[in-house]
Amino acid sequence: MDLDQQSKSFIQITFLIIGVLILGVFLNAYVYSFFSIKAYQILFLIFIFLFLFSIMAILMIVLFYLRIYQYRKILGNPDWFLKGLHLLYPLMDFICRIFCFSYSPLQRFFITTNNICIQSKNIKVLPEEILILTPHCLQKSTCSVRVTHDPSYCKQCGQCNVNELVQLQNKYHVSLAIATGGTLARHAIQQYHPKFILAVACERDLISGIIDVTQVPVIGILNIRPNGPCKDTKVNIDQLEYWIREISIKERLVF
Ligand code: SF4
Repeated sequence: MDLDQQSKSFIQITFLIIGVLILGVFLNAYVYSFFSIKAYQILFLIFIFLFLFSIMAILMIVLFYLRIYQYRKILGNPDWFLKGLHLLYPLMDFICRIFCFSYSPLQRFFITTNNICIQSKNIKVLPEEILILTPHCLQKSTCSVRVTHDPSYCKQCGQCNVNELVQLQNKYHVSLAIATGGTLARHAIQQYHPKFILAVACERDLISGIIDVTQVPVIGILNIRPNGPCKDTKVNIDQLEYWIREISIKERLVF
């Protein structure tokens, strides 16, 4: 069974919490049986203190990230914030699922905060070292051309965004891959060895990709879904071009 990253995290955290609870029950029984009531009370108070301290610490960290999200600015090392975000997200996702909160705002928060952290690193690469990675659903569903094999096969009829993506590829000499799934997306990364990825996808696939690909910086760009999920989707080409210009070494942006 091929689970997505968020389901895996949910299951891992569920098992972790169950494991901690079982350990706590055994510890409690052990201390109650073999220690004095006084020692038992002290250990119980320490446990309550640590529990409340952990809740407070998590709340403080969440508030810190909300501040980054609000002001679009990072004070400190962006790598630490990225690592913290990757650790915090599964926990927040878990809480949303347990309490049946909508996790779309959390997903968008993760993607935006990731982009702010990556932008703060001020990475500059050659345009040829950038890979634009998009899902297959950007292609018009009635089009018969196999652009997943090679986007340059696109006849540029203008009926979908693949046309503009190929134009961007030709204009900036970036790499472009249109993948039908996670396996082919990973294959494209191995094939092009990019130093920077501009990934276009829905919230779920973007988060899975950003968490999976830790060795290359990834900026996530949400697709637009006027026809529902996975059908004739679109991407904001101006936004993609902004990121290409933002991360490219300026002197190499000659056309
Ligand atoms: S722009 Fe390219 S991919 Fe899109 S419908 Fe036309 S030929 Fe097909």
